[in-house]
Amino acid sequence: MPRLIKKKRERWWARSQKTGRQAGRKEKSKFYHTSRWRKLARQILIRDNYLCQACKRKGVLTAVGEKPRDHAIDHIQAVRQGGDFWDPHNLETLCAGCHNRKSGKERHQA
Ligand SMILES: [Zn+2]
Repeated sequence: MPRLIKKKRERWWARSQKTGRQAGRKEKSKFYHTSRWRKLARQILIRDNYLCQACKRKGVLTAVGEKPRDHAIDHIQAVRQGGDFWDPHNLETLCAGCHNRKSGKERHQA
């Protein structure tokens, strides 16, 4: 008889999609792969009318695309600083340029 090989643990995102709540609070990045987050992100986009809120504060209307690479849903107060990951009031739509600036990956874009 061949020895039984233990199945590898399910990947975390497969599990968190089902339950959404198993993940520890410290590992917030894994939340971004959950359907719960995608749904919430969509709600924020719609609420913000697909406009970058940082640009809007500067009086510029920048529309963002629906695809994940075309926009960012940003935590106004960073989760590691006590911000609530799931609170819509702590979330806003940013364009890629503003998000890059905020996360310190500064790029000079025309
Ligand atoms: Zn912007």
